Amino acid sequence: MTEVPSEPANPAVDYKPASPFSRLREARWQLITAAGLAFASSVFFDVPWQASLGAVALLVGVTAYVPRRLRSRRLEVVKQRELRRMWPGTGMKVTVDALPSPCFVADGRGITRYINQAALKRYGELKPGDPLSFSLRAPSLLEAFDRVCSSGAAERINWTEKVPTEAWFEAHVSPVYMPGPSAGVKSGRLPDFVLVVIQDLSEQRRLERMRTDFVANASHELRTPLASLTGFIETIQGPARDDPAARDRFLQIMLEQAGRMRRLIDDILSLSRIELKAHVKPAALVDLVEIVRHTTDALAPLARDMNVEIETDIGVGEALVRGDRDELIQVTENLIENGLKYGSTGEKVAVSIKPIDPDAEPVNWSLVVRDFGEGIPAEHLPRLTERFYRVDVDSSRALKGTGLGLAIVKHILNRHRARLEIESAPGEGAAFKVHFPASDAD
Ligand code: ADP
Repeated sequence: MTEVPSEPANPAVDYKPASPFSRLREARWQLITAAGLAFASSVFFDVPWQASLGAVALLVGVTAYVPRRLRSRRLEVVKQRELRRMWPGTGMKVTVDALPSPCFVADGRGITRYINQAALKRYGELKPGDPLSFSLRAPSLLEAFDRVCSSGAAERINWTEKVPTEAWFEAHVSPVYMPGPSAGVKSGRLPDFVLVVIQDLSEQRRLERMRTDFVANASHELRTPLASLTGFIETIQGPARDDPAARDRFLQIMLEQAGRMRRLIDDILSLSRIELKAHVKPAALVDLVEIVRHTTDALAPLARDMNVEIETDIGVGEALVRGDRDELIQVTENLIENGLKYGSTGEKVAVSIKPIDPDAEPVNWSLVVRDFGEGIPAEHLPRLTERFYRVDVDSSRALKGTGLGLAIVKHILNRHRARLEIESAPGEGAAFKVHFPASDAD
């Protein structure tokens, strides 16, 4: 980083004038010399002694009362000015660089004096000496900066940016006072520099929004079957009281609605259990081959009902990954069940386990569940793993879907440090590919 050369004088370091006595003491040798010269001129050059005395008295008066800073203070001011020109020093730079948030140190004119590494990464090549407004364009931030420069009171502000994507920021704008004899004199003193620390709150806000959306969606999903249950109970109590055929039909529907509520609550609980464990990496070694065989056996009756064949392509005896067996069964079950439900027109679901890199040791495995049904239009692919996101709500409900299956899959795979890729095109089926890290990978 280069330093910024010029710096206007800061009135804050111009101290109060020295006392008359200290001025006389500082100029004592000059005064003694002047008095000697006056005495000599009266003795040797016949200058009237009143004139000599008057000149000496005038000199003493001027020395004592004309405002002037002591030399030591003048030196102090020069030192301070020099320090300010060189500031921020190495210590400050190292500290600011260690902060994870973008930080800017600017002087009172809004000229950048130092930019930490996080800010360089986020805001590009801003150089010391450039105006702060080159990289920080938010008007509310620049206004806050001006206010801090003129009042010396720290401020915290928030703002939102819409382009390129919606983002939320918070900035702390704090005055910085140079160390020195007047460092403690904060009242009425303008800051020497201003420190701007910016925090990106987008992730936090998105999480908050997701959470509120989730509660709203979950309540909505539960309210529909609940309303239907209440309606049927009222009908059975009232108009259908003496109609056994209608009562049986309604009871059957009520059973289905209760089942829908149960599935939803099961999935919500499942999601929150997985979220609780999100940061605990599974330690056990589990066999993907055994998990796939277990799942395909369990789903065989559904496959028969849907008239779909489950085809497995597993060329290995075992495929070990670090994982939680129950959770991985939930992943394969959700993916294969989706293939059976939404890809039933293709009449086949293919499940394969293959090494991603056959020469690696230990091997990193990929699990692919492919169906040959109607596929998914490209615009839906990025959102499929969002909670309650469904391409077609009615068909999902008709197939006993909750809209949470792929969200659960994504959460489980995140915990396993595994990656999910979805490939699909309308009319060409869909492939859900899971890439597991090697079992000894960190
Ligand atoms: P749901 O409980 O509705 O099945 P999921 O989270 O498992 O919820 O799936 C979300 C949506 O993704 C489904 O509603 C469906 O529209 C779509 N989808 C999932 N898998 C497939 C697939 N194999 N083929 C076509 N669409 C699919």
